[in-house]
Amino acid sequence: MSRRSFIASVRSRTVVAAWLGLGLLLASCILSGPAAAVERSLRGELKRVLILHSFGREFRPWSEYARSIKAELERQSPWPLDVQEHTLLSARFNNPGPEAPFVDYLGSLYQGKPPDIVLSIGAPAARFVQRYRAKLFPETPAVLTVVEQRLVNRLDLTDNDVVVSVRNDFVAAFENILKLLPGTKTVAVVVGASPLEKFWIDEVKRELKPLEGRLDLVWYSDLPFEEILKRASALPPHTVLFWGLMSVDAAGVVHEGDIALHRLHAVANAPIFSYQEPFFGNASVGGPMHSVAETSSKTVSAAIRILGGEKPARIKYEPIGFGSPKYDWRELQRWGISESSLPLGSEILFREPTVWDRYSWQMLLIAAVILIQAGFISGLLHERHRRQLAEIESRQRLAELAHANRYAAVGELTTSIAHELNQPLGSILTNAETAELMLKATSPDINEIRQILADIRRDDQRASEVIRRLRSVLKKRPFEIRDTELNDTVREAIGLVTSVADGRRITLAYAPAAVELNVKGDPVQLQQVVLNLIINALDAVSDADMKKREVSVSTGRAGSHAEIRIADTGSGIAAGDLANIFNPFFTTKPQGMGMGLAIVKTIVEAHRGTIAAENQPSGGALFTIRLPIIH
Ligand code: ADP
Repeated sequence: MSRRSFIASVRSRTVVAAWLGLGLLLASCILSGPAAAVERSLRGELKRVLILHSFGREFRPWSEYARSIKAELERQSPWPLDVQEHTLLSARFNNPGPEAPFVDYLGSLYQGKPPDIVLSIGAPAARFVQRYRAKLFPETPAVLTVVEQRLVNRLDLTDNDVVVSVRNDFVAAFENILKLLPGTKTVAVVVGASPLEKFWIDEVKRELKPLEGRLDLVWYSDLPFEEILKRASALPPHTVLFWGLMSVDAAGVVHEGDIALHRLHAVANAPIFSYQEPFFGNASVGGPMHSVAETSSKTVSAAIRILGGEKPARIKYEPIGFGSPKYDWRELQRWGISESSLPLGSEILFREPTVWDRYSWQMLLIAAVILIQAGFISGLLHERHRRQLAEIESRQRLAELAHANRYAAVGELTTSIAHELNQPLGSILTNAETAELMLKATSPDINEIRQILADIRRDDQRASEVIRRLRSVLKKRPFEIRDTELNDTVREAIGLVTSVADGRRITLAYAPAAVELNVKGDPVQLQQVVLNLIINALDAVSDADMKKREVSVSTGRAGSHAEIRIADTGSGIAAGDLANIFNPFFTTKPQGMGMGLAIVKTIVEAHRGTIAAENQPSGGALFTIRLPIIH
């Protein structure tokens, strides 16, 4: 082997070994959990832990403490553990049988190889350990936990014991009730009949002396649980239930787990209070209470220190009081307790999600859609408003333009109007002179004179009519829609141009419809439409060198529309111009403005009508206007 390949082979072996080591370490981590597990396998020392329960493994509240202590111990212990649990059943009975057989059993179990530590859960188990430890395992350290400080037998404590005690503060627990429900008059206390439970009756009575007079206490300790349920379902107003302990009832029935509390909760017509966390979460309203986590963490810490070799005498804990108050939101709701009545620093749990919590994104989406829609709607409304303003403005402009156009049209008619006025004025003068002459006669013919005066009046009315028509068509006024009868409107317009037609020797014929043609419109503007079209027709006929010089106007009904037709015998509209004649400034006349038809079309469309131009087969143009009939 060359030097280089030898070094390479050594290197690769080192790398393989390093990987193997790392792999083993990782595998041990993966298989046995966190760092404590790795350390545990390294040390290899098995620790034997004896847990002694008071009533049984499933009796609340102790069961919850024991469960938490065991789990935490397993998690924190750097050593492998052998946890052995026993139950001291004698705590359940008022007149327990001899404990000796149980002691003997434990003695034979641990003879020669005592446990490394004993953990007693609850006061009866603590008493038992204190009483029999010298006999059973004199050297083994003990942690007496989950025991109320009043129940610790301090005289029998040794240097090998650690006490993790709690302090029940009944005044605080009952004041919590009064704070939440100030109207409370009676508290029915649910408590069992075992020796431990009975112990508490006197303790509670003694401790609650300061509240005497404010609260009546009713004790259910001598009732079977079934009877307690009955009473709890029919409690008088202003009564609450206080759940102390219910391990064994007066009938000797044992209540494991939380079944009893749930049954009570199901039937009770009053709220239930308790000071133990294991009873919180499905039945009690809440308040200040013992925290499972705090007691178990102190217990486990003491156990680990002892198992690690520390002297128990050095580990001392003050009794643990209630933790900060906790409340069940569902119970607060159920009993109408306001959150504002809770003490400062309270924690509210089990809050049910509101509709908002559950559907927040859907609601946000809907709100966004509504907002966007509202934005669109307001935009559209704004747009509509602007359109309305623009429409009003365009109508005003149209009215002004139409007015200017009327002036122009009337300007074209000036000669014939002057002629038309001259005629009656001339007749009036002649008639007046004749009448004067007749009056000079010795016997004037009164009848003749009366006739002459009648003629004068008629001529005067003719002249006035011409002026009235002119004034009405020249009056400047805004576009104004009203009910209009089309036959009369057209007749009025024709009246203005009759003399023009006469002057040009053109026959102007009018054939009105036999029925009324009621439309919505501005009569002056509609007259202007007719006037413009007739003037154009007269122009067309005047220009053409035709024998037949005729403009015929007619009205009629075509379905739901009224029609005005203006036909002439002119030379018609050149085919190429038909598409353009309505455009502004389109004219074929040397002096024309090209605005007449553009204005006509605008006015007709403002009346929701249509106008069409065509050439007649017989020659000449035909303009047809259609306007919607209203009735
Ligand atoms: P203007 O009369 O000033 O020319 P108009 O808008 O009234 O403006 O008419 C536009 C054009 O349409 C006219 O110049 C003419 O060529 C044509 N026109 C209108 N009416 C007739 C008609 N009855 N016969 C033939 N051509 C016509």
